[in-house]
Amino acid sequence: MKKIAIYGKGGIGKSTTVSNLSAALSNLGYKVMQVGCDPKADSTKTLMGGNFIPTVLNVLRDKGDDIDLEDIVFEGYNGVLCVEAGGPTPGIGCAGRGIITAFEKLEELEAFETYKPDIVIYDVLGDVVCGGFAMPIRNQYAKEVYIVTSGEMMSMYAASNISRAVMQFKSRGYAELKGLILNAKNVENEIELVNKLSEEIETDVFHYIPRNPIVQEAENIGQTVIESFIDSDMSKIYIDLAKKIMEVE
Ligand code: ATP
Ligand code: MG
Repeated sequence: MKKIAIYGKGGIGKSTTVSNLSAALSNLGYKVMQVGCDPKADSTKTLMGGNFIPTVLNVLRDKGDDIDLEDIVFEGYNGVLCVEAGGPTPGIGCAGRGIITAFEKLEELEAFETYKPDIVIYDVLGDVVCGGFAMPIRNQYAKEVYIVTSGEMMSMYAASNISRAVMQFKSRGYAELKGLILNAKNVENEIELVNKLSEEIETDVFHYIPRNPIVQEAENIGQTVIESFIDSDMSKIYIDLAKKIMEVE
């Protein structure tokens, strides 16, 4: 089972990239589990026809500790398994808490042994890399890390911070930065800027995703590009990403 974490600054396009990646992987015949690690709990929305699924934290709050896998794992597009960790009411409690609770619950309920996914993808907010948000890159969770960035200053700044956090944990766990995913915002000299960043943090630009309005078009009807526009150039780009990720050792 492959375990990867996708980090990146808020709003950079993590959930979009991850959901299209999951959909593409499922089309290639892989069993995928996508775990949203954002208190907003919207990571898997375009895999679920535009709907929010109950979060692990909310289900625990409503039903108590005695829950089943079916209460927190939902089948979306083409059988992709969707989980949302959830989070506390904004302003109250630690936002990373949902991630820790969700991970512990998935393990306790033997989610991976039960569903046997080929790949688990964690969609993680990268503005803060403390506590819960570092959970996926700590020992035994995600093995490979990718950072989504554009050429915008703040997103490259976040990418740099995340890369340092991964280094920190490398000695203790085994998470490794496998590269940057450049999700273009079409800023001037974008490719050069992100190439330079990749050199600075000693990694590569693993994949280039152009900006394309069909991403939002699909999103508006609660779908991924893979579901809505399978024959588009954009779908080919996500399918390429999926194939490349599966080849990484
Ligand atoms: P958050 O940190 O808030 O969870 P995020 O990093 O998950 O944000 P998304 O929600 O995936 O970001 O994307 C933000 C917006 O950018 C969405 O409306 C999405 O449709 C759009 N978007 C992402 N990637 C692309 C792209 N390659 N082309 C066009 N639009 C895109
Ligand atoms: Mg998101």
